Formats: sequence, structure tokens, C-alpha cells
Amino acid sequence: MSDNLPPLREVIEQYDLRAKKSFGQNFLFDLNLTRKIARAVPHLTESSVFEVGPGPGGLTRALLMEGAAQLVSVEKDTRCIPALDDIKAAYDGVFNYHIGDALEANPAKLLDADKPRHIAANLPYNVGTILLTNWMTEKQWKPWYQSLTLMFQKEVAERIVAEPGSKAYGRLAVLCQWRSEARKLFDVPAQAFTPPPKVTSAIVQIVPTDPVLPELDVRRLERFTAAAFGQRRKMLRAALKSLNIDGTALLEMGGFKETVRAEELSVLEICQLAKLWQDNEGALKRN
Ligand code: SAM
Repeated sequence: MSDNLPPLREVIEQYDLRAKKSFGQNFLFDLNLTRKIARAVPHLTESSVFEVGPGPGGLTRALLMEGAAQLVSVEKDTRCIPALDDIKAAYDGVFNYHIGDALEANPAKLLDADKPRHIAANLPYNVGTILLTNWMTEKQWKPWYQSLTLMFQKEVAERIVAEPGSKAYGRLAVLCQWRSEARKLFDVPAQAFTPPPKVTSAIVQIVPTDPVLPELDVRRLERFTAAAFGQRRKMLRAALKSLNIDGTALLEMGGFKETVRAEELSVLEICQLAKLWQDNEGALKRN
């Protein structure tokens, strides 16, 4: 199915939408690629989708062509208004958009709550990791959304899905894996974008699951992982000093050797230590 709208290159020309670096703009024109991303969104045809940064509408139009039941996009660049208005007219009642900063948007409120809700985006590189961290640290779990299908720089994608012991493993892997399944779907070469960025990109999909340690407070885990992975070359017991924790006592309590480093521990083990700290904060305080 095509959407009877002009090709994206014409849209860019017609509305003078040359990509601006300050907005993190690298546009996708290849319909095969955008439709492939859209098809990766689970149950798209029954779902409400939130998109960050539609720009001239490449991924937006692919999501609509593939049959999204509802799509709401938030774009910061006002230059995109006429292009987005054309899409809105073509998909009346299905597509809507807001101009503003996605960091301040409340997507749960923008989407119909009677349908499964998903997030899909070719994220602006300057706010991508912040948005992801916000979505992964929602207090209520499972959260309001059922999946995230997101484009990142490949290096960030690798940090999200990293396994213990690897160079990429750290805070982001723990936050994205302790109560979600995170996987890399496919790489996207720099030449697929206009203008091409300096690095390869990749699509990541994250699906929330039931937490293994439901009582562990996510804020506690955020603080723990920031300290544990903040000084990678240090042993964990030393890295935890910034939290005023007796790291040796904590590791002993958890049954770990006192020379262990954070990157050697599995996501579950990191969570277990954070939970032990949560439950024994007084006893573990350093004097
Ligand atoms: N979705 C389009 C595509 O795939 O071709 C554009 C993707 S481009 C990488 C990122 C888009 O996010 C740009 O349109 C940019 O203007 C927009 N953007 C940047 N910062 C934003 C923010 N804080 N909130 C909402 N949109 C933002």
C-alpha cells in the first residue's frame, strides 16, 4: 500500500527541511527500511504508537502504511509542521502530532489507553539515551507501554543488550535488562540516512517483563549501578565507597568474593546486591 503523499525527497525540497545538526536530524528516505522497522513493532495494527521526532515523516508514514491503529508523534522542529499536516490530512483520525520536546511529553496520556501502547522512533542522538533511561526507570512496572522499537547509534545499542564480561556491559545493560528483554534486531548503515552520520546505527527492541526482584526500588538500583560501574577499573567494594557502603560487608553478605568487579556480575547478581543494600542500609553504612 502507498499513501499517495509525495516522495520524502520532494517533501524536504517543498518545505525546505534540510537536516539540522542541532536537532540531531538524520533522515531516513528508504521505504523498505522504514517499513521493516514499522513491521517490527508488535501487533502494530491493533496498537497505539508513540513516535519521537517524526521530522519530515519517513518512519511516521511507514508506521501508518503498515497499519498502526493510532499514531501520535512529538517533534521539536517547527519547520516540520506543514509536512506533518499533510500526513495528518491523509490519515485523518489515525495520526496526530504535537510540537514540543519529547523529554517533557507524557505519551501515556497522548495515546488511547484502550489499545496496547508501543513506542517506536529513530531517536535524535542527543536525547536518545536520556529518553530510554526515563522509559526504563518508570516506577510502575510493567509500565504503560508494551514495547520499545528504537534506533540508536550501534555503540549505544550494544551497551543496551550487552552481556556480563563484555566491554559494553554496564549501567545501561542492567537498567534495560533487569525487568525487560532487550535485543538488537538489525544494523542500519550510515549511508541509509541523509545526511549520513559518522557511525553505524542499529534497531533495538525492548519488551518489559515481570521483574525478578519486584521489591527492589528502581531509584536504588539506579544509584547502585551509577556507583558500581562509575569507576570501571576499581573493584566493586572500592567503587561503592561513593555510596558510603561497606562494600566488603555487602559482598560477603551476598556470597561474592571481595575482589569482584561489577562487570563480572550478572544483571540478577547486581540486582541482588542492590536489594541487599536496600534491606540492610543501616548495617552496611561505613563509619
Ligand atoms: N523520524 C525521522 C526519520 O526517521 O527520518 C527523523 C529522525 S531524526 C534522527 C530525529 C528527529 O527528532 C528530528 O526530526 C528532530 O527534529 C527530532 N527531535 C530532536 N530533539 C527532539 C526532542 N527533544 N523532542 C522531540 N523531537 C526531537
